[in-house]
Amino acid sequence: MGSAVTDDFTVNGGPALVDYDDALATYEPVLGLETHVELGTASKMFCSCATEFGAEPNTQVCPVCLALPGALPVVNGVAVESAIRLGLALNCSIASWCRFARKNYFYPDMPKNYQISQYDEPLCTDGHLDVVVDTPDGPQEFRVGIERVHMEEDTGKTSHVGGATGRIHGADYSIVDYNRAGIPLLEIVTKPIEHTGDLAPLVARAYVTELRDLVRSLGISDVRMEEGSLRCDVNVSLMPRGADEWGTRSETKNVNSLRSVERAVRYEIQRHAGVLDIGGQVVQETRHFQENSGSTVSGRSKEEAQDYRYFPDPDLVPVAPDAEWIERLRADLPELPAAKRRRVKTEWNLSDEELRDLVNADAIDLVAATVDAGASPDDARKWWLNELSRRATESEVELADLPITPAQIARVVALVDEGTLTNKLARQVVDGVLAGEGEPDEVVAARGLQVVSDDSALGAAVDQAIADNPDAAEKVRGGKVAAAGALVGAVMKATRGQADAGRARELILDRLGATS
Ligand code: ADP
Ligand code: MG
Ligand code: ZN
Repeated sequence: MGSAVTDDFTVNGGPALVDYDDALATYEPVLGLETHVELGTASKMFCSCATEFGAEPNTQVCPVCLALPGALPVVNGVAVESAIRLGLALNCSIASWCRFARKNYFYPDMPKNYQISQYDEPLCTDGHLDVVVDTPDGPQEFRVGIERVHMEEDTGKTSHVGGATGRIHGADYSIVDYNRAGIPLLEIVTKPIEHTGDLAPLVARAYVTELRDLVRSLGISDVRMEEGSLRCDVNVSLMPRGADEWGTRSETKNVNSLRSVERAVRYEIQRHAGVLDIGGQVVQETRHFQENSGSTVSGRSKEEAQDYRYFPDPDLVPVAPDAEWIERLRADLPELPAAKRRRVKTEWNLSDEELRDLVNADAIDLVAATVDAGASPDDARKWWLNELSRRATESEVELADLPITPAQIARVVALVDEGTLTNKLARQVVDGVLAGEGEPDEVVAARGLQVVSDDSALGAAVDQAIADNPDAAEKVRGGKVAAAGALVGAVMKATRGQADAGRARELILDRLGATS
């Protein structure tokens, strides 16, 4: 372990943050992203313990993941399969033979004192992922090189109790939960990402977003950044424009949201520029992103690979996927996000902007499922992007986490199409479904929301409206058809918006001997 490094900023004459545009005028950023994906396997990487999120601390543990003496790990086949599928989706080569390695270091959340990982023999190497960034000049595509995808196991989770920040400094004591220790992880490491210029923060964000969507489409992880099943380490360095040697990188650890990825890159560019502008040297170290301030603070100086004393794990047999299996997995890959975007753009006849809005709202799959359940693409898109996006924002949940399904939205659309609901009533039905009142039809029945269009029910309301508004009625009788609007309004009010307005108008004109 390196020694602690104090923060870089000193009060007098030390580096200061440089304005973002000024920094980019002088320097060219290089990025590297290391992303950890926690797999959704039922059991851990090397034992049969359950992996459920949120269980009682230290209940999902056994001699293997607690590393009791003599325990022997066995590789989880589904995890290997998931790694190969992701490698294939990222256009990687899949090794026909590779091994696990022990990465030796001490940390209390890691019971073995080493982590089983892969080092010089990763399962997947040399791929790429294309990402699209919105610029004022239109969408711009970047190809991000993938260095490797390797398998490893997660550590336990330490909580520092009593301090103000949840960090170890100032804490009274620390507790550790080993439920997470041994959960399978994939680490996806990019090649250095160059030539992004001032778009670097957006490219970083677009890459993590695209990777998240790709992993989700494979169904191998729920990739929830807020629950830590997708975490990102952000490497940034700067070199003078035109130089061909990369600068020293910093590595900001465990960045936990898409927005934070973007902010962390931005901040590090500004910070590095401050150090370099006064002739200083960027320290190669890990840093932590501070959600509140959007800044990073120094963690520890970076270990070199040699510090970990990697060696092949003697307890595990090599992983040697045969070519036939790999080809079967390749053939069985689902439609990947980029292909899906191209398809729906054509099938739903979307403009670039409409597609972008769907992508930004993370709504393509929801809309597609709603269309599959019978709604038109336009209706489905409007519901998810307008009404439901607003509800999601209000209740601070992801769109997909709203307690309403695409099938239910499709049913609401059908009820509007067949005339049972107006748009206004439909929104009340959605309210009811979101409030847990059941299926759309149950909400319609329970709340009595269907449009009133049968003449006997409407007729009474029409007669009442005419009686209550003699002036308007007189005008209509005298040929001023426009005055019927007030009467229709009265009917709508009396029926709390449930009347079929068109039919109400017909009845009013009929009763008053006028024609429209
Ligand atoms: P480590 O585990 O020590 O962080 P890795 O090689 O696993 O090292 O990951 C380093 C990441 O940083 C990779 O994505 C790599 O492409 C990227 N990287 C390497 N050198 C630089 C650099 N000078 N500037 C920015 N990123 C870099
Ligand atoms: Mg790293
Ligand atoms: Zn176990």
